[in-house]
Amino acid sequence: MANMKYCPRCATELSTRFDGGRDRIACPARDCVFMHFGDFSIGCAGVVLREEEGILKALLVQRGQNPFAGSWQIPGGYAEHDEMLTLAVEREVEEEAGIVARVNDLVALRHSLAGTIGGPSTNVYMIFRLDYVEGEPRHDGDEIAAAGFFSLEEIAAMEAVQGLSKWGIQQALQTTPGSGLSVGGEDLRNNRAGWQLFGLEEVDLNMFGR
Ligand SMILES: [Zn+2]
Repeated sequence: MANMKYCPRCATELSTRFDGGRDRIACPARDCVFMHFGDFSIGCAGVVLREEEGILKALLVQRGQNPFAGSWQIPGGYAEHDEMLTLAVEREVEEEAGIVARVNDLVALRHSLAGTIGGPSTNVYMIFRLDYVEGEPRHDGDEIAAAGFFSLEEIAAMEAVQGLSKWGIQQALQTTPGSGLSVGGEDLRNNRAGWQLFGLEEVDLNMFGR
């Protein structure tokens, strides 16, 4: 539990309140509704596949800094609290690898509890499939030490490829593009700024030659 002393909304000294079956840090001020439900964060990462001379390749970046300096993974990072998830993952892919790509669908996610290997906050890490648009891999040489498209054979032979990234690539390869959760629900979302809905859509398998 966070070590919070003052309300982040009104600066009143916090106390605890029993709510929803457990004691929670809450603000006692009459007009303030702040209650601390925990520390959460959202990570997002992109599987970007591109065919080169008939061989399907996946975009990977090599971390230049700790933790896990030297390890290879699909590009990604934390979503800002005021940023739509699709924009967050598209931004991370372009920032880290110089590739412009657009979200197709969500293929997998990982939930990890605070204090475990996932980090200090309880985290949901969303793995999206993105459609390649343009650009060649480039990197800043600092946060990212290298970037490139690699075939499955090459990835299998590389050292220090993050297991979660490999799993995400597999999830994308063994499913039809568009068969995961994709942005939709426009009618429901209408006039709700700040909402982005992801749902299932029927996919025309003939589109993919199966
Ligand atoms: Zn307050």
